[in-house]
Amino acid sequence: MVVGEPAGKRKSNWNDYQTIKYILKQYYMRKKIVAGNWKMNMNLEEGLKFAKSIEQYFSEKPPAGSEVILCTPFIHLQGVSEILKPGKVALGAQNCASESSGAFTGEVSAAMIKSTGAQYVIIGHSERRTYYHEDDRLLNKKTVLAINSGLNVIFCCGEIKEEREAGKHLIVVKRQLEDGLFTLSSEEMKKIVIAYEPVWAIGTGLTATPDQAQEMHHYIRGLVREKYGKECAEQITILYGGSCKPSNAAEIFSKPDVDGGLIGGASLKKEDFIAIVEAL
Ligand code: PEP
Repeated sequence: MVVGEPAGKRKSNWNDYQTIKYILKQYYMRKKIVAGNWKMNMNLEEGLKFAKSIEQYFSEKPPAGSEVILCTPFIHLQGVSEILKPGKVALGAQNCASESSGAFTGEVSAAMIKSTGAQYVIIGHSERRTYYHEDDRLLNKKTVLAINSGLNVIFCCGEIKEEREAGKHLIVVKRQLEDGLFTLSSEEMKKIVIAYEPVWAIGTGLTATPDQAQEMHHYIRGLVREKYGKECAEQITILYGGSCKPSNAAEIFSKPDVDGGLIGGASLKKEDFIAIVEAL
């Protein structure tokens, strides 16, 4: 309050102050996450050794205010789960079955993933959408099953190069979210992390500019707000993924609607992965 100012002016300053305080509070309340997606890399021995070195590093230097997740192939889940101490580094799978149990040879259910001690599962990664033809309806089924099994879901969305060039990127992501995710209840949405991964940036070395990432993340948060309200929108974590590396992570993470990253290639190199976590 500035002494001597007219009462009306004081009131408006006070309102501005309250609004800024509210925005800051919501922003800092959001969980910040760096998740490594190992994809189909590392045999069992290599994976366990790598997980051990990551665990050791973050036991000594806990990531300030952010959560680190390792999303491993299925075969690593149990072993890595035994290595990771509770509360330091979390564990996730990269996919789950669209059915809960039964005669589905080769599949791994969400409940099985949960039984290893994993807390997360990635659903809707573009490699699953492209190579295994997983569509929004199927991804919605997987998401519901994963949540009902007690897992948190990292739900991926993102446009291909041609869609961006045609100016259709916002509409594509809107459809993916509406069909894949927005059937969930507000309570179920608390278990969701959204990962925006422009397909043209995954594993290509091309990265969305920080402004492109911010535009999309802001848009996604707006869609969540329209459907689930302000509180849900302010609290949901939205990650960026696509050729994120130590040299570009800090600039991308500095954007107000970017709450961390889903990291592919760079999550396989200890120094790079740690540098990205520290950038956050
Ligand atoms: C990913 O696989 O989710 C990913 C973002 O890969 P990369 O970081 O290698 O582009």
